Amino acid sequence: MIPFNKPYLHGRELVYIAQAVASGKISGDGLFTKRCHDFFEGRYGFSKTLMTTSCTDALEMAAILLDIQPGDEVIVPAFTFVSSANAFALRGAKLVFADSEPDNPNVSVATIAPLITPRTKAIVVVHYAGVACDMDPILALAERHGVRVVEDAAQAIDSYYKGRPLGSLGALGTFSFHETKNVIAGEGGLLAINDPGYIHRAEIIREKGTNRSSFFRGEVDKYGWVDIGSSFLPSDIVSAYLFAQLENLEVIQARRKSLWQQYWNALAAEAPKHGVQLPVVPDYATNNAHMFYLVCPSLEVRTRLINGLKANGVHAVFHYLSLHSSPYFADKHDGRSIPNSDRFSDCLVRLPLFYELTDEQCAHVSDTVIQVLREAC
Ligand SMILES: *Cc1c(COP(=O)(O)O)cnc(C)c1O
Repeated sequence: MIPFNKPYLHGRELVYIAQAVASGKISGDGLFTKRCHDFFEGRYGFSKTLMTTSCTDALEMAAILLDIQPGDEVIVPAFTFVSSANAFALRGAKLVFADSEPDNPNVSVATIAPLITPRTKAIVVVHYAGVACDMDPILALAERHGVRVVEDAAQAIDSYYKGRPLGSLGALGTFSFHETKNVIAGEGGLLAINDPGYIHRAEIIREKGTNRSSFFRGEVDKYGWVDIGSSFLPSDIVSAYLFAQLENLEVIQARRKSLWQQYWNALAAEAPKHGVQLPVVPDYATNNAHMFYLVCPSLEVRTRLINGLKANGVHAVFHYLSLHSSPYFADKHDGRSIPNSDRFSDCLVRLPLFYELTDEQCAHVSDTVIQVLREAC
């Protein structure tokens, strides 16, 4: 069976983990955590970055930093991972779901605009498949209404909007190093802080609500409980694993882009003949090869495709179920239909794409897709 995803060692992960242990400190903010921060701040120009235990935790930090209170409204795409919404639900926010673009899963600015009210405090955007949302109109809309923008850039490492790194455009950006992402640490995340006004409080929130970071820098002579927070900082073992991958980001990205292009070359002519749509990458966006997805013409076709792939040793998977109709949220939703999100829930399928996927396996997957579509659709 060709799995959908497979974690991998690029080379020096275990060496760096051993070094972290030998340094005498494997709790948070050790040697490798600092190296990861330097990497992200240096390469992408974020004002400040903080490693977290997950992207979920980075989003929870964002919700605390933005002072989200019960009754505040937060606009979130319906087609996203639960954490983009849950982080704000935890603070008591009223979630208002926006729809996707008709031709790709990213949130559409046209559906955000009518949802803004005087209670709107934040807009969360998700760069699906690492492909940028159309940020300029979203940022302009937010600015006009005094609303903060949070970028859930979990899938968007090393990807750009009009030349600007994703995660650097909103007030805050969040990344994931979960084993299914481009660079991995098992579980891990990063908060990118683009408004320097949030830096001081972010350090406190990440350290259980204490000013321990200031203490270690010698800025205060004792540390104590000064705000709310949690334990959002990861072990240095996580950062050691991640740093070995970051050092090889170019190689990892080149390999993923090669696999993505192989899928594209194999499927671009044939898939549309069966009403199957390929990924859309608008002119303003780059493709970081996080994901190769297909959009089938119906749920039936997608089910046949997933089953046909499975029968031929390929594990392909669908993705999000629209959050507005989830068991937790359905009775809280305002009843608006959110049709594009529902269509991607029913019709989108993701093909295996991971660093160690071979060219032969990639060809087997695309050959099988074509064979199943010809036979069944
Ligand atoms: C993976 C993912 C997350 C969650 O990341 P974790 O690091 O697993 O918490 C959140 N949002 C999106 C869009 C994701 O793809």
